[in-house]
Amino acid sequence: MALYRDEGVVLRTHKLGEADRIVVLFTRGRGKVRAVAKGVRRTRSKFGSRLEPGSIVGLQLYEGRNLDIVTQAERVETLDALRTDLDRYGRSAVLLEIIDNATEDGESNPAVYKLLTGALRELDRAGNPLVVPTFVARFLVLEGVQPLVDACVRCGATTDLVAIQIHEGGVLCRSCPSGEPISEPARLALQLVFDGRVRHVLDSTTGDVARELETLAAKLVEQHTERRLRASAVLYEQLDEGVGSLDR
Ligand SMILES: [Zn+2]
Repeated sequence: MALYRDEGVVLRTHKLGEADRIVVLFTRGRGKVRAVAKGVRRTRSKFGSRLEPGSIVGLQLYEGRNLDIVTQAERVETLDALRTDLDRYGRSAVLLEIIDNATEDGESNPAVYKLLTGALRELDRAGNPLVVPTFVARFLVLEGVQPLVDACVRCGATTDLVAIQIHEGGVLCRSCPSGEPISEPARLALQLVFDGRVRHVLDSTTGDVARELETLAAKLVEQHTERRLRASAVLYEQLDEGVGSLDR
């Protein structure tokens, strides 16, 4: 078995047997990794408390056939506010769930890793509700599905843009409605994020627009994940057919 080191964010954990835990991590070098942490549910475990969802940890692991085995874990930094503040905790859970749902095991993506750790730090520091929507917008860019937000994707109209739909590729005008409703201030905020002015949006967007963007972010992720799942379902069908044709 090969030993390796990596840094990762704990996405979730679940119990395994009496004393062990399965830990799902998003690592910098190997993308999503599932590993067993042995004995961590015993009170005297050396690293049990470090492997909580949202923790950023330095790890040493043994490569296993199905699951890797955690042999060392040390906290890279303590993001204490994420654990003690309920709003920040809830928002960090949304980030972790997005990465868990929208990535496949072993798909390395250091840019997504950097985005995730940056968003967790920003949440820990300021608990800003805009962290989730700006994270989602930049995640979609990294996934290659940045929506166009300055003109209707069906007819090219640049005014009266009232909805957004990831499958369609962006915003739609009142004559071509589809997808989720979007207000003009929310659309402009998204445009600023895509133009690289994330800090400006984080610092200046408040109230109803912030709330709208948070709700909208969840819908956009849903649209993207559905699309991704459908794409992989089609791929599996093709693979099945491929295997079938070998039998004939
Ligand atoms: Zn249109």
